[in-house]
Amino acid sequence: MTARDHHAANRHTDRDASSGCSGHASNAEDPTTADSAEVTDCLVMPGNPVIKSQAEEAGLYRDYNGQRYWLCCATCGPLFDADPERYASTT
Ligand SMILES: [Zn+2]
Repeated sequence: MTARDHHAANRHTDRDASSGCSGHASNAEDPTTADSAEVTDCLVMPGNPVIKSQAEEAGLYRDYNGQRYWLCCATCGPLFDADPERYASTT
């Protein structure tokens, strides 16, 4: 029964492919290599590290109530604008 063996091998390969989610984005700078003071968490999408200087260059930040908030991507701008107090109050 070589068909069974083949099926089993395919399942193994699929599992390996889906579990190898190590986020190897080579086109973006690795946030972990940046100065830790330069990195903050995106308030809109917690868990997404934001490099402050890069966010400011890209316009991905908001000044709200005298505080500056950095955003991880262009999607977070409108989300922050829609409900800034919700995100600002989490600090
Ligand atoms: Zn974002």
